[in-house]
Amino acid sequence: MNINFEGKRILVTGAGQGIGRELALRLSKYKGEVFALSKTEKNLDSLVTADPKIQPVCVDLRDWDATRKAIQNILPIDLLVNNAGVACLTPFLDATPEGFDLTFDVNVKAVLNVSQVVAKSMIERKSGGSIVNISSQAGQAALKDHAVYCASKGALDMLLKTMALELGPHNIRVNAVSPTVVMTEMGKLGWSDPQKAQEMISKIPLGRFAEVDEVVDPIIYLLSDRSSMINGACLLVDGGFVAC
Ligand code: NAP
Repeated sequence: MNINFEGKRILVTGAGQGIGRELALRLSKYKGEVFALSKTEKNLDSLVTADPKIQPVCVDLRDWDATRKAIQNILPIDLLVNNAGVACLTPFLDATPEGFDLTFDVNVKAVLNVSQVVAKSMIERKSGGSIVNISSQAGQAALKDHAVYCASKGALDMLLKTMALELGPHNIRVNAVSPTVVMTEMGKLGWSDPQKAQEMISKIPLGRFAEVDEVVDPIIYLLSDRSSMINGACLLVDGGFVAC
């Protein structure tokens, strides 16, 4: 697939580490003008050291007004990836209001906020665009100790469908990539215990977790014009976990 994002301004949230960081580097390699948003300055510094063409945006997505202001400063954006996410893992009976609020603030509410600012500008410019949310297999299947995280990704998937419905007429496509476990810092939170990891792997027909690049490739496809008729889709990157 010959991909070239020359002339495109691309915003990736949660680009300080993990999937978002690798995605930002790849999009820049494909000649996109990349804006990397994250909350920890040192992670962004390290990303910019790796690729000085990437422009950092340091803001906490839990701060609604600061986030809107930060994004208004970098408009127009042609392509958006809502990748930032958190996981507070506890048994259902131990889930706390603080964990719930943090999870929904970052995984759901911030997606609404960021996408509103970006999509309003796309509509004003009549430019169209593509938005990709990073969801999870956890939005479609129950995982032990993931009650709040699963609920947040389920909510994100319904938000996606309504965005696809309302933004589609403006030629803005909205899709999601829904990975299985990837061994980033977040992946290690839930799956470092070899017994838990093995239990999960045994339910994945391909018999392994996903690599970061295996998640980045479908995101790039959904951002690109190669997916020009795909809107409202949640693309599972789960080795067949949800199907079985
Ligand atoms: P990660 O390594 O923990 O990275 C998460 C990124 O999100 C970090 O850069 C972090 O910022 C940023 N972030 C978190 N809260 C933020 C906030 N309040 N404001 C701004 N930035 C914030 O996670 P990952 O594994 O790459 O996950 C990326 C996405 O994939 C998430 O949506 C996650 O739910 C999803 N996913 C992950 C897995 C997995 O197993 N890893 C599986 C399925 C889906 P800092 O750099 O500042 O800490």
